Amino acid sequence: MKTFAYDRARDVAGAVAGFGPGTMYLGGGTNLVDLMRLGVAEPEHLVDVSKLPLRAIEADGDGLRIGAAVRNSELAAHPAARERYPMLARAVLTGASGQVRNMATVGGNLLQRTRCPYFQDVTKACNKRRPGSGCPAIDGDHRNLAIIGHTSQCVATHPSDMAVALAALDARVHVTGPEGERVIAMPGLHRLPGSEPDRDTVLRPGELITAIRLPAPPPGASAYRKVRERASFAFALVSVAAALEVTGDGTVRDCRLALGGVAHAPWRARRAEEALTGQRAGEDAFRRAADAELADADPLPGNRYKVPMARNLIVAVLRELMPR
Ligand SMILES: Cc1cc2nc3c(=O)[nH]c(=O)nc-3n(C[C@H](O)[C@H](O)[C@H](O)COP(=O)(O)OP(=O)(O)OC[C@H]3O[C@@H](n4cnc5c(N)ncnc54)[C@H](O)[C@@H]3O)c2cc1C
Ligand code: SF4
Repeated sequence: MKTFAYDRARDVAGAVAGFGPGTMYLGGGTNLVDLMRLGVAEPEHLVDVSKLPLRAIEADGDGLRIGAAVRNSELAAHPAARERYPMLARAVLTGASGQVRNMATVGGNLLQRTRCPYFQDVTKACNKRRPGSGCPAIDGDHRNLAIIGHTSQCVATHPSDMAVALAALDARVHVTGPEGERVIAMPGLHRLPGSEPDRDTVLRPGELITAIRLPAPPPGASAYRKVRERASFAFALVSVAAALEVTGDGTVRDCRLALGGVAHAPWRARRAEEALTGQRAGEDAFRRAADAELADADPLPGNRYKVPMARNLIVAVLRELMPR
């Protein structure tokens, strides 16, 4: 690992002021330190933001405000998250392991890097790590990679489960940077690869995530379901965050759907939402909605299985959310 300088920030202004060329913010370090050990990340200077006074989870009007330094385990266990935003609490709980969740912060979770095997191996080409060097995943190991929104430059997926729930919940990400504060709507923090796969997000240099704000919970029942290779300690092959409100006569009044494991960003399934809203809730309508969303899926030879997996998972989660 390369030598680097380390500072612990006391407040947000100090963290941002301390950010210069070669600097990276350090949350719990559960992703960044691994990448430093692998030689993928080589910061010259770390500004530790994990001890900033951003550890509160508090009511905010009819919503919830979550500080960026809140640990994943604290968020998953918080009564407001469990009772009012079960899809979020569940999404966080399906990620990593208890030990990792105790260290990992909300801000760091959103900004964790892809698990594409070539990105993590500095002996291989990778447009995300070294722009212009190529994307060996396209002809190589892309079994777990994207089926929607990818380009010939990059087929990586975003690994965060929490981000998928935040995309379905219309969360807002509050950031402070050298040019001041701004608010970024979810989905919208993460970008599709386009011709610049080295840019995961729309954040500008030095911007620090300070909080997540959730609006009031969506009406109806909600859930997060994740298909993975083993029951814990595994990233999503496909995941679905969903909320469904069905009226007394069986019509879908409101529907939220977001997918994980399928794209470079958490994927808000707006076509499916539109196809479903106003329809009679049931297996046929759920299947039509899933098909509408996946019509543009463009899998690679090794990840075609994800299309029926995503379709079946959408239908299964919606079925589970039907009123009994
Ligand atoms: C074995 C293993 C399995 C895992 N499985 C899953 C899984 O299934 N699902 C899942 O979602 N995650 C999973 N994770 C990832 C884990 O959730 C992330 O490592 C963790 O959330 C990152 O949080 P952190 O605070 O440690 O971030 P760090 O590693 O400290 O930082 C990550 C990135 O965020 C930046 N950063 C940190 N805080 C801020 C901030 N406030 N503002 C701006 N930039 C910031 C850093 O500069 C860095 O680029 C797994 C991790 C491991 C090690
Ligand atoms: S998919 Fe993206 S991250 Fe993976 S090798 Fe290609 S460019 Fe790199």
